[in-house]
This record gives sequence, structure tokens and C-alpha cells, in this order.
Amino acid sequence: MLDSNLLDFTLPEEAEEILSLVREVSENELVPRRAEMDAKELFPTEVFAKYAEAGLFATMFDEEYGGMNLGGFMTVVVTETIGEYCLGTATSFGAVKLGALPIEHGGTKEQKQKYLPAFAAGEKLAAFGLTEPDAGSDVPNMKTTAVKKGDRYILNGTKQWITNAGQADVYSIFAITDKSKGPRGISAFIVEKDTPGLSFGKLEDKLGIRASHTRQIILEDVEVPEENLIGLKENHGFIHAVKTLNSSRPFIASMAVGLAQGAYNEALKYTRNRVQFGKSIINHQAVQHDLAEMAMRIEAARLLAYKAAKFLMVNHPEAPKYSAMAKLYASETAQFVTYNALQLHGGYGFTKDYPVEKMFRDARILTIYEGTSHIQKNEIGAYIVKEANQFR
Ligand SMILES: Cc1cc2nc3c(=O)[nH]c(=O)nc-3n(C[C@H](O)[C@H](O)[C@H](O)COP(=O)(O)OP(=O)(O)OC[C@H]3O[C@@H](n4cnc5c(N)ncnc54)[C@H](O)[C@@H]3O)c2cc1C
Repeated sequence: MLDSNLLDFTLPEEAEEILSLVREVSENELVPRRAEMDAKELFPTEVFAKYAEAGLFATMFDEEYGGMNLGGFMTVVVTETIGEYCLGTATSFGAVKLGALPIEHGGTKEQKQKYLPAFAAGEKLAAFGLTEPDAGSDVPNMKTTAVKKGDRYILNGTKQWITNAGQADVYSIFAITDKSKGPRGISAFIVEKDTPGLSFGKLEDKLGIRASHTRQIILEDVEVPEENLIGLKENHGFIHAVKTLNSSRPFIASMAVGLAQGAYNEALKYTRNRVQFGKSIINHQAVQHDLAEMAMRIEAARLLAYKAAKFLMVNHPEAPKYSAMAKLYASETAQFVTYNALQLHGGYGFTKDYPVEKMFRDARILTIYEGTSHIQKNEIGAYIVKEANQFR
């Protein structure tokens, strides 16, 4: 029997105040800058300073580590709201949590106490270094190694497409400690930015989310003290990575919902004002059909994202399945909604004069990062087969 609390999406009491803060800071600090940040690939440093001042990074962390203890459900609502304004900013904001999650899931109390409070305060940024040039979907094919030498590990390798690389102060890095064990031979390390041998590749010149900086991380004989092995246990890295991705997928889903909602809002505004054939185009029934389908898919994606977040909060056995479903459905919804929002703007939507042009470009990343749509289907399929086998 399903616990009905899991389907109760009432926001906690503090939510209204927090969300109005997110909106206020985003409207005052982010909206005026977002076109320039997109054009010039500027990182949202000033916006993050204001988010930190407003305590918004704390919404993602537990009270014990300087957070607000709001739980994952409220965190997805906050990232959804930022996603409505700028997906690049939401991505880099969310990547702080992504980089912190391996420490939250697998770190010792000392590691949590050392690093998490600075993330919660917005004083330090984090990044998550899993992907490599030849190991994207195929994570276990990674080549980065960590070799124990006395009381240190020596890391060598290259991480590819790392959000916040170069901007973050702290990196969760995955590396092989025992090649003979395959995925069970991967470990996770905390690497600080100023460690000798750590450097970054060029700023990737991307189609969208250009305010979010993406670079390679290059590790050349990087010496990491043994106390920075996450959980102080070798060969547990793959489990930390899987748990991290299961927990972070509802965030990606919520950013997708936010972006789709933002594009829908723009479409609604435009179709009410644009007159063709003597009436606002919103009064043409075909336009209403488009808006109806956009609104319906956004609502369905939102409910799935919230459900996944709620299931994660109680560590429900089906949580990973719902996380993958939410990420897949919401990211595909964002493609559909931004495509149609641009279409409803006609030729004007094809220019930078209207925000839907950026939203359309930004949406494209959602079906790629944190596991492509194929990979989400693989994960859901694996669960379906497992469930089916239980009842054979
Ligand atoms: C802007 C951006 C930010 C990112 N941020 C981070 C980050 O912060 N940290 C991090 O670690 N990584 C990050 N990534 C990496 C991202 O998660 C990977 O790009 C993604 O997992 C896909 O890997 P790939 O690019 O190597 O594609 P590939 O794995 O080479 O996939 C190429 C195509 O093959 C398909 N495919 C591959 N294997 C299968 C299969 N088994 N079944 C079906 N289809 C398959 C894929 O679905 C895809 O369509 C980021 C990527 C980008 C572009």
C-alpha cells in the first residue's frame, strides 16, 4: 500500500517566502544579465553572490551542515524556479549540489563537516567529475587512476564536460584504484582547486546554457591526502556515483519543468498580444491546441519530478526508477515546449529579441547530461525486467 504522504505535494510552510526570494533575486539580478551572460559566456558570479546573500544555497543542504533542512522536495522546487529564468544559471547552481552529493552520500562526518557548510553558505562551489573523453554513458570504461603512495593518492587522467570546472573550489573526482574489479574498483576523491597538477581545459563554446561553464579537468600527478578518499574506503566510488545520479535526476527534471514553464509563459504572453487575421492569435483554435498540449505535458512532468523527489526523501526502493522517468519525461517535455513556444512566436521567435530563442537552445542539453534519454530508458527497462522477474 502506497503511503499517501508520498503523493502529497503541499509545500512546506517556509516555501512561499523562499520562492518569493528566488523570484525577487532572479528578476532583479538574473533577468537583466541573462542575455549578456549567454552571448559572452559569462559565469553568473554576481547572481550567485546575491543567491548566497539570500541564503538560497542553504535550501539544498541539511541543517547539521548549515542548510535549511528542507528536504529534496523543496530543493527541486527551488531549482525549478531558477530554471524558469535561466537554465545555465540553474545548471551551475544545481552542480554545486551534484558535486556535494558524493560527500553527502558517502563521506565521513569529518569530510561532511569540512566541506558542506561552505557549499550551504554559497562561499564555495562544487563540481562533479565523472565523465571522461572515452567514458560518457559507459562510465566503467574510465581511465583516470589513483595510486596509493604512502599517505597520499596520485591521480592521473582527464575528465570531460565538467560543469563548474575552473569556477568550483572543490571537485568530487572518480578514479580507478583496482582495475581488476571493473566498476567495483572505482573510488571517489575530494580534490581542492589549488592542488598542484590540477588544471582545466578551454571553456567549451556551447549551443546553450552558456552561462554555465563547462571545461575539461586535467589531472597530472595530483597528490591527494588519504583523508580525502570519500568515506575513507577504496572501491566504493561507483556506488557513490550511482546514488548521486539517482538523487540528482529529479533536479534536472525540475530544471526542465522550470524552463518549459518559462517558455510556456512567454508563448502565452506573445499569443495574447500578437494579432493576425483580425484577432489575437490565442483565439485561433489551433494555437489553443498547442498551448493545451504544452500545459498538459508541463503539469505531467512536474508531478513526476515531485513524485521522484518525494520517493527519494524516504529512500523508497522504486525511487531510482521514478528519478529516471522524471528526468526522461521532463527533459523531452522541455524540447516539445520550447520548440512550440518558438513556433508560436513565428519569425520573431527565431531572433534574440525574444527569450524563447535562448530557451530553445538551452533545452537541448537536458536530454544529454546526467545520462542521455537512451540511458534513462535503459535504467527504467532494467527496473521493469527486475520487477517482472520477481513475479515469475
Ligand atoms: C554541458 C554539459 C555538462 C556536463 N556536465 C557534467 C558534469 O558536471 N559532470 C560529469 O561527470 N559529466 C558531465 N557531462 C557529461 C554528460 O553526462 C555526458 O555527455 C553524457 O553522459 C553522455 O556521454 P557522451 O557525451 O560521452 O555520449 P556517448 O555516451 O558517447 O553517447 C552518444 C550517443 O550514444 C547513445 N548511447 C551510448 N551508449 C548507449 C547504450 N548503452 N544504449 C543506447 N544508447 C547509447 C547515447 O544515448 C547518445 O545518443 C556534461 C555534458 C555536457 C554536454
